[in-house]
Amino acid sequence: MNYLDAFRDGELARRLAVAIGAEVDERRRYRLMEFCGGHTHTLARYGLEQLLPDNVEMIHGPGCPVCVLPSGRIEAAIELARRPEVILCSYGDMLRVPGRNGATLMKARAAGAAINMVYSTLDALDIARRHPERQVVFFAIGFETTTPPTAVAIKEARRLGLKNFTVFCNHVLTPAAMAGILAAPETLHVDGFVGPGHVSSVIGSRPFERFARDHGYPVVITGFEPLDVLQAIRLLIRQLNAGRAELENEYSRVVSAGGNPKAQALMEEVFTLRDHFEWRGLGSLPRSALRLREDFAAFDAERRFAVTVDAIPDHKACECDAVLRGAKRPEQCKVFATVCTPDNPLGSCMVSSEGACAAHYRYGRFSAARANA
Ligand code: SF4
Repeated sequence: MNYLDAFRDGELARRLAVAIGAEVDERRRYRLMEFCGGHTHTLARYGLEQLLPDNVEMIHGPGCPVCVLPSGRIEAAIELARRPEVILCSYGDMLRVPGRNGATLMKARAAGAAINMVYSTLDALDIARRHPERQVVFFAIGFETTTPPTAVAIKEARRLGLKNFTVFCNHVLTPAAMAGILAAPETLHVDGFVGPGHVSSVIGSRPFERFARDHGYPVVITGFEPLDVLQAIRLLIRQLNAGRAELENEYSRVVSAGGNPKAQALMEEVFTLRDHFEWRGLGSLPRSALRLREDFAAFDAERRFAVTVDAIPDHKACECDAVLRGAKRPEQCKVFATVCTPDNPLGSCMVSSEGACAAHYRYGRFSAARANA
């Protein structure tokens, strides 16, 4: 724990913030996007934005796996759960994300659907083993970090000969989402990226090189402790001041250029790319998500239950689309902290602790001045 505490040292953080202040060029603005919801959470929890100079602006990205699933996929999960033969297994955060007309898995469960909250894919497998009379569907979500455990569960289900276990696969890919942000014409001007730490521990830092080399954006991969995030911001500012656009790895204690080959091999064995996938906020992005390979089709819930995914509009007042693109800050949504709260989330960004709206609400660090900027 001492090791972690060293990355949370308040005095060091203040000194780092002073050093950042000494390095910024007062004549310019620095608009830096942190891709990961985990980084957004760290910024809010430790009040890091308040330590930064006024001309350094953090723009929250779409890296919250709960937030980016569109309502149509939530609704499809609810429909699966309503089938009398199905037990749907889901991570807890997904239970409160609104689908069609405010429907949620939580409400479906209250109405009688069999929905179990699980902490791991292996919990879902265990339920399948204990209930051979039911069809157990695992609602799989997340970026590259949570994909290998889903692959393990599928392979284990096959090894055990389980005929009643399937996966509703909604795993998505980080580099494709970053490319989607840069391709969107209405994207706000972003100067550089705080790159994902956990995802890079799996896929390596190399997939992010192209954003520096081909697109001219500095990228600094970093961890999730406050000193990690501040150091990444400092490195980005140095690159921008020097006119450089490079990939740097601040998180070398965890991330290598090549990542985790075993996890990558598992993903490659079980999953293949979808041609397109609809993201909340980013629209339909090519080759940005995974589905099960033919070899594992027997474990694919979309095939077994002929799942269809409809385009379902979000609540009229909800600005999650803009928040996820970095086009608006949470407090710029008119219903933020009034109608929309963690107890009564109107949009997905208020549900998970990685969601930008939930992070801002929870730590109360939203500023009226910035909201009206
Ligand atoms: S405050 Fe609520 S409705 Fe508004 S963008 Fe955030 S989650 Fe969506």
